[in-house]
Parts: sequence; structure tokens; C-alpha cells
Amino acid sequence: MEQNISVERALEMLRSAVQPLPPVRRRATEAEGFVLAEDVFAPIHQPPWPRSPLDGYALRAAYSAPGAAKRVVATICAGSCYDGPVGPKEAVRLMTGAPIPPECDCVIAQEDTDGGTETVLLHRALRPWENYCFTGEDYRRGALLLPQGTRLRGLALGLLASAGLLRRDVELAVRPRLRAALICTGDELVPADTPELGPGKIYSSNAWLLASRLRMLGVELTVLRETFSDDAPALAETVRSALPGCDLVLTTGGVSVGAKDILHETLPLLGAERLFWRVRLKPGSPLMFSLVDGKPLLSLSGNPFAAAATFELFARPLLAALEGCGEGLPTAVRATLDADFPKRASVPRYVRGRLTDGRLSLPAGHSSGQLASGLGTNCLAEIPAGASCPAGTEVRAWLL
Ligand code: AMP
Ligand code: MG
Repeated sequence: MEQNISVERALEMLRSAVQPLPPVRRRATEAEGFVLAEDVFAPIHQPPWPRSPLDGYALRAAYSAPGAAKRVVATICAGSCYDGPVGPKEAVRLMTGAPIPPECDCVIAQEDTDGGTETVLLHRALRPWENYCFTGEDYRRGALLLPQGTRLRGLALGLLASAGLLRRDVELAVRPRLRAALICTGDELVPADTPELGPGKIYSSNAWLLASRLRMLGVELTVLRETFSDDAPALAETVRSALPGCDLVLTTGGVSVGAKDILHETLPLLGAERLFWRVRLKPGSPLMFSLVDGKPLLSLSGNPFAAAATFELFARPLLAALEGCGEGLPTAVRATLDADFPKRASVPRYVRGRLTDGRLSLPAGHSSGQLASGLGTNCLAEIPAGASCPAGTEVRAWLL
């Protein structure tokens, strides 16, 4: 087991420990939210024929000139075609999205004419291919439309539909929806619906926060368990029974060096292969990563903000690795601190922040046990190790 490793090393180990799940075939119409496990190529040109980008008149550029009059031989709306001849003194009236007739090489905008349905007077000359959308302007048949690893939503689904790939008979290879088990431990915890807190007890918040984040990321929660205890054999049993129905296990609590940090006792009971423990960052440094029956088990600190932050930094890349879709980290941008951050640490520190227009403000509360100061924040600001950062310092911000 590696100990006390850098964030980068931890990410590298997480990614190399897991393989993307074996692909399954799904009807394309039912694949929203899934990650493609194959490259998808365009079966057609889009658009399939040259089309008019505006309302106007199609004609032959060589015969255009200011003041030239043309006879309108047809009026074509989007959805119909005109394949007939168009002579030097003729034009075809077109609406936006209509096919440009084969004999025409440009379209003059309605506003550049005195146009009617019988004749049209041009106000200017046109160059060949002016206002002309070519066949395959968007993509050509055979082009790589969506590479494997693309999550099918929004624009990607629009692209599939545009290429005729959302026909009912089309199937795609995708990664199965991830199934996670989330298990929160701790003697001091009581269920969130307990009417009154007993002495020394707190409500468990991690399960609610992390379950919601997992669902937001499209993960199916097959097991959501709070043990309300620090009992190693009981936790081992809970993990053991969760394993067959999930692709990964997340736990919170019990990973530090205290008397009740039971993961150290639990993992041997599970025959787990421990890959790393403790990462050089704040908060959440006692992060632990193991494999149990070949499945990843990521154990987060129980401190609510530590659990939330290390979820974004480590659990998301793990989920992405299982789905074969990119690095999974939040998007990083450069941002300028709008006030001093004088606290120094010997390790990089990830603090909640609010980024607006490149300016980053950090709330007052930074402790790993605090949740309230995170409300309204939209990123994790990365304060480099050793640095004290005066206002105006540029730091990296991970957008959440
Ligand atoms: P641990 O990681 O078990 O050492 O817990 C660190 C801190 O986080 C302690 O103050 C715990 O009481 C608190 N904590 C652990 N689990 C939870 C939870 N599910 N919800 C809220 N706080 C928790
Ligand atoms: Mg504990």
C-alpha cells in the first residue's frame, strides 16, 4: 500500500486500478445519459443536399448584376424540391432550408431584391457559392460523429437524431449505468429523521449529500446504508452483501488514525487489496482506496466538507474511469483571489469558493466539518502548498 501520496499519484492509481465496464447494446432511443463504448460514424451527409440558408432567390452567379430582372420559374419551401432547368434569365424562389436547385450556384437574399412571385429584380451581383450551404456542411458521410467516451445527452443526442441514428432499429454499444453502494459509518450518527438528538450525537448528513451528488451524475444507488456504528465486522458484512449488486463502493468515516477508525480492521476482514491511504491535501487527507473482489472501494473521511470535496476530486474520476469517459475531474480555470488568504499549509488546500467573472471570493469558514459556508459557492479553489496568497493571486479553481 502506498501512503502519503500526492493528489496526482492518487488519481493515477485510481485510474489504473479500474477498467471501463464491459459494454452493453441499447436501443439508441433509450441511451440518453449513457456513455458510448464505440465510435459512431455518420451514415449520411448533413445536410443531405445543398440548401438555402435564407429566404431569397436561387440563380446562376454568372448572370447576376445590379438591375438584372429574372423570371421566377418555381417557388420552393423547405421540404420540397425543384430539379428542373434554370436559365440565365431565370431564378427559383426559395425559403430557408429549401434545397438549392442543381443548376444554381448562389442565393440572393430577399432583402437584396425587389422580389415577387412572377419576376424578381436584383440589386446586386453575386459571387458563385454565395449564401450556399453545401451538402455535408455539418458533417460528411463516414465522418466520426461521436467518439467513444461521449455521454449521450444534449448536443450529442441532437447529432444522433440529425444523422438518422435515433431510428427505432438502431442499437449502440454503451457502458452500463453505474451502480454504487454508499455506506456511512459512525457511532455518533443518528438518522436524519430522528426526532431528538441524544447527548454526543449528530445527524448524519453525508449519506444525503453524497447520494444526491451520485444521482446528479446519473449513478444508480443500489445500496444506501448508514451503519450508525463503528463496528468493523458489521461494516465488513454490509460491504460484502453490497458488492454483488454494485460496481463501486463509497464509504465515509473511520479512515483516520483514531481508536474508532475501523476501516483498518474492516478491510482485512474483506480480503481487500489496499492500494493507498492518505493523500497530501486538505481537507480529507485520510482518503483510502482498495479493491475488494476486484471492485473499487473508495473510503472518504467522515467530515462532511472533506467528504464532499474528495468526492469531487477523486470519486468523480473513478466514476469516469468505470464509464470510460474522460478524466472526470471538474473543469479547471484560472481565477484571481479578491481577498487575502493568509492560511499556509504544507499540502495543497481545496477551499470552497465563489467564482464570478474571473474573481474568486472565499467564504470565512474553511474547516472540513463545516457545510454551511459552502452554500452558494460554485468551485473548489486550489491553494498551492506553502503559499500564503495575498489578494490578486491567481489560483486554480475547479468548477462544480
Ligand atoms: P471520521 O472520519 O469518522 O473520523 O469522522 C470525522 C468527523 O466527521 C467527525 O466529527 C464525525 O462526527 C463527522 N462525521 C462522520 N460521518 C458523518 C456523517 N455521515 N455525517 C455528518 N458528520 C459525520
Ligand atoms: Mg468516526
